Amino acid sequence: MSLAERYSSVKERVASACLAANREPLSVELIVITKLHPTEVAHELFDLGHRHFGENRDQEAKPKAEALRTAGREATWHFVGQLQSNKVKSVLSYASTIHSIDRESLVKELGKQLENQDREIDGFIELNLTEDSGRGGVSEENLEALTELVLEIPRLRLRGVMAVAGLGKEPRAEFDRTLQLAERVQRLAPSATDLSMGMSEDFETAISMGATHIRVGSAITGPRPA
Ligand SMILES: *Cc1c(COP(=O)(O)O)cnc(C)c1O
Repeated sequence: MSLAERYSSVKERVASACLAANREPLSVELIVITKLHPTEVAHELFDLGHRHFGENRDQEAKPKAEALRTAGREATWHFVGQLQSNKVKSVLSYASTIHSIDRESLVKELGKQLENQDREIDGFIELNLTEDSGRGGVSEENLEALTELVLEIPRLRLRGVMAVAGLGKEPRAEFDRTLQLAERVQRLAPSATDLSMGMSEDFETAISMGATHIRVGSAITGPRPA
């Protein structure tokens, strides 16, 4: 299958999953994760009409975003990877949404960098659904404290939570847990109702459980180079 065929096949699957869940197809934002693929893939998807792209490393994302912009392709970039504080300034130069807010030092740096800007940025609090504290995402114990801190930052608009279902785990159980934790965030931030969950292997399940943002890579781009 070509890129165009994989793209349209995923879009059809998204539409069917929405229909099955009695949801408007426009209620789910498909973000194509282009990481580790050449910039050409993003150019081609843009020309097919796609606008939302995601990347997980600043070193790769920044030149790609700039290449598209230079070519007159105004896309929307989502940052979905672990974010070092010293990369925040750079990421803010092209991304409009950060899906991986997971610790106090990162929120403070976002606050500092946004202080001098006259624009807003959207953010998701990333949940760590594993027991491994080395993984990205906030632990359950720190969820409320981090949420309160995010709410103190002007120009950072909290949209909701982001989660990655664990490898080899049952996605439904992982997303159930995500929904429970999302409710805790919403007690403090009632408008933060968005759910960034679902990837190539589980986006249909995620849609059936209320995902508003799905992050799909390989099902569209093909396998990533090792
Ligand atoms: C790579 C990545 C994805 C996409 O993964 P696929 O399984 O290729 O769809 C989604 N979310 C995050 C955070 C990623 O790093």
